[in-house]
Order: sequence, then C-alpha cells, then structure tokens
Amino acid sequence: MTEGPAQFDRYRRQTILREFGVESQQKLAASRAVIVGVGALGCASADLLARAGVGTLTLVDRDVVELTNLQRQCLFDESDAIERRPKAEAAASRLSRVNSSIRIEPHVLDVTSRTLPRLLREAKPDVLIDGTDNAGTRYLLNDAAVRDTIPFVYGGVIGTRGMQMTILPDASPCLRCVFEEPPAPGTMPTCDTTGVLGAAVAIVAGCQAADAIKVLIGRRDLIKPTLLEFDLWSSERRRIDLSSMCNATARRNCPCCGKHSFEFLDGKHDDDAIKLCGQLAVQIGSTGRECDLDRAAERLREFTPKRVSPSLLRVSLAGERAESSGSLELSLFADGRAIVAGTADPARARGVYAKYVGA
Ligand SMILES: [Zn+2]
Repeated sequence: MTEGPAQFDRYRRQTILREFGVESQQKLAASRAVIVGVGALGCASADLLARAGVGTLTLVDRDVVELTNLQRQCLFDESDAIERRPKAEAAASRLSRVNSSIRIEPHVLDVTSRTLPRLLREAKPDVLIDGTDNAGTRYLLNDAAVRDTIPFVYGGVIGTRGMQMTILPDASPCLRCVFEEPPAPGTMPTCDTTGVLGAAVAIVAGCQAADAIKVLIGRRDLIKPTLLEFDLWSSERRRIDLSSMCNATARRNCPCCGKHSFEFLDGKHDDDAIKLCGQLAVQIGSTGRECDLDRAAERLREFTPKRVSPSLLRVSLAGERAESSGSLELSLFADGRAIVAGTADPARARGVYAKYVGA
C-alpha cells in the first residue's frame, strides 16, 4: 500500500484523539523504534506500534517459536511453532500483513556487547524497547541507551506481576539507579520455571507502547519518572515516584548514568559462550558471579534436577529438543559456569541459560 489519504484514514480513530492529531501521526510515520526481544512483551508492543503507524520497526530476537509461547506471544500461531520459525521473522511476516505501509526489519540476532553497537548504528532508533527475558541483556540495553542518549522503555513480567519504567537519559534515573546490580544467577524466577500470566504481559506492554508513542511524537514531557508495578492476581497497583532522582547530583553515584562506566557494553559481564571442542555442547563461561545451586534446584524442581556434587547440579530439560536426540541437558557449576549439552549453537545455549537460570 502507498502513502496517501487512505493511509491516514486507517489511523482515523487515533488522529481524532484530542491528545494526538494528524501532526503526531506524521511524526510517528517518520520515526524508528527498535524492539529487542520478540517474546511476550516484544510481540505485544510491536503489535501496538505497528498498528499505530510507527514508520520503521526493527525486531530483534535470537530464538525460535515453540508451542509453549502461544499462550502469551500474540504474533505467533501453531504453524510458526511447528516449523520453529525464528521469532523475529515470524513476527515481521505477521505484522507486514497487518500494516503494509510501514517498514519492518527482522534481525535474527543474539544481542551481546559485540552485536548491539552495530545494530544501533544501523537502526538509529528514536526509542529502544525492552522485550528481553534476562537481566544481562537488559543492563546492556540500559548502558547503550544512556551512552547514546536513546530513550529506553523497560518492562518485565513474571508470574502474575509486571513492572514498567521509562528512562529518558540525562533527564530521569536509569535502570541501575533503581536496581544497581543484576540478580545473581539462579536467584530470580524466570517465566520458564515460575510461569507467566498472559494478562500481565498485556498491561506492561500497553504501558511500554504508550510511552514509546509519547517519545516518538515529541511529548517526553508527559512521561513521569516512575516505576510502575502491577499484580494482576491481587489487583494491586503501585507507583513509585522517582522524581527525587531526576537531577544529576542525585544520580552521581550510579555506575551507569552518574559515573559513565558502561561495564555491560564494555563486555565486562560477557558470559563468553563457547562451543566445546569435539562435543555437542556449549560452555557459558563464568560471569564472575557465583550460582546458588540450592536456589537453582528449587526453581528447576519440575525437571527433577540431580545434585551430582556440592559444586554441580545437572538437569535434563524436557521440552528443549537436543540437536542429536532427546532433550538438552544443563549442568550448573557453583562458580557460575554452565554447560548446555545437546547443542553446538552458542546463541541457543545462552538463550536456554537465560530461560532456566536467569540473569
Ligand atoms: Zn543511573
């Protein structure tokens, strides 16, 4: 479809909004958003932004669609899961049928300190949206957003709860102002060990998309420095006011936006996933953070993990197909290392580690 009155007709319910108007629609059409992680949150915010008419959407994900994704990842269907299509490509193909007048660029990519700078140089985002499932990538995005002054829309969901916060570098606190360090490996629940309620995804992605739109139409003044928390099961809502952290003096001790030490972007926390020679296995090198094996065993209990020794926990991940036969096997060491057996693909191993161990 081509640009023209018909295209703006498509957006009529949005342009007649008093808060929005035709001029905002034109700004949106000229804007670029990058969504890192096209899982539950990434699908939902990409869907909202594509329908709203964001001119260029870059969708980035390293993973493929699985049947267990369909409960909450709204851009995929059963045929995507059967074919195990890359999420970025499946989402792009679905959204290009929803809105053919915008550009959608899928990248099947593992976002690391090595790949992120080039991605951002090429995509030149006006806003960066968090659809990731792990703290390491999230802190990496926070570093890049602060360094390059790109508005960064954080969102997270787990269980029945969700959180959302929008970071306007130089004007509001960053992720590390609020949560200085990422959680140690194995200490936090993940969607794959705890589960996640689809409705919690929708509310967080809705907040993310609304803030992204405000940024893209030049209404940053509407974005409040707050951390929003929702529990969809207890119906509790919390709004934590962060306005006291907006001036530079209050943020001077933040390693990222205060001291400009971009450790995640500099690769100091890289996990160094390497294929093990002669084996169908990948080692995720120590990130320098110890893994609490007792807590990891508790989180992974549905897979009946085996405590091989005080320093080693091993678990067979039913549902994660190995490249040879059977399921992937994860060995977790107390020093923070892990070995994923059954794959030779470092990106897949890193994904499996993030899904089941976290951080
Ligand atoms: Zn900060």
